[in-house]
Amino acid sequence: MVQGLSYYPLSLYFRLRFGHSAWKISVDAGLSCPNVDGTVSRQGCIYCNIPSFSPSRRREAAGRSVAQQIADGRQRLIRRYGEQRAGALIAYFQPATNTHGPVDRLRAIWREALQQPGVVGLAVGTRPDCAADAALDILAELAAERWVSVEYGVQSIHQHSLQWLRRGHDFACCESAVNRTLARGLNVAVHLILGLPGESRDEMNATAETMARLRVNMVKLHNLHVVRDTPLATLWRSGGISLPSLEEYAAEVVDFLERLPPDCVIDRLSGDAPPEFFLAPQWSQDKSAVRRAVEEEFVRRGTRQGSHWLG
Ligand code: SF4
Repeated sequence: MVQGLSYYPLSLYFRLRFGHSAWKISVDAGLSCPNVDGTVSRQGCIYCNIPSFSPSRRREAAGRSVAQQIADGRQRLIRRYGEQRAGALIAYFQPATNTHGPVDRLRAIWREALQQPGVVGLAVGTRPDCAADAALDILAELAAERWVSVEYGVQSIHQHSLQWLRRGHDFACCESAVNRTLARGLNVAVHLILGLPGESRDEMNATAETMARLRVNMVKLHNLHVVRDTPLATLWRSGGISLPSLEEYAAEVVDFLERLPPDCVIDRLSGDAPPEFFLAPQWSQDKSAVRRAVEEEFVRRGTRQGSHWLG
């Protein structure tokens, strides 16, 4: 981690890894999710509204090839940052479960993505109970030539939280997926939620310590946030849950990051959703304010990512 930074952000990792900035472009391969299509259940996770992951893309992606989605995403970046800065792209298979399909189809969509101009790597979002060795073997082959990351929705190590979230898997399968993925030389990113009802600070910290023990490469932190048309939205409207304040969340994040190794990359600090889907808490729509609150908490404590291990 660079001196002076409180944590190791993804933007810095990309600059060090590729020699310049890189951008993730969300790609919707039209795959389903085992927690929705009946393979595991039909109820979905309590917070999940799949289109809210990338609504414009999921609506527009119907009928558009992987290549076309990447080309369109690249054009958007060029318009925003100019040709020079929009150089390196990571094709991010984001909505739903992107290892949930026949391996021949998975191989084809991943290869198609890597063949597009400017694409330097692949990020594949999936569930830990959907990490078949055959799919990981294909990704390991691709990783011989390009940067490849598998992003697992882990959320928590605690069974009571996984049940409340309706994840439909336990933590043992997360551990197995992470270990089998790392053993193939692939990068592993884990998505985790802080501020779950009934989860104590000690329990959140235990999740951080477990991620440190597993040596995951990257962490994506989300505050529990409510999007419309979800069971969580119904619960929140009825007053069945309360959400932490920004100050409480910043303290939880700093507790967490202090327990991660300094070289673990922090992909994001909070969750969000497009305004047309987002309900609460309002503060999490302002990512700069979240970053500032986390920085201020680090300064207040005089600590940084990894302090727990470095002393
Ligand atoms: S695993 Fe992902 S896509 Fe599937 S229901 Fe849960 S959050 Fe939604």
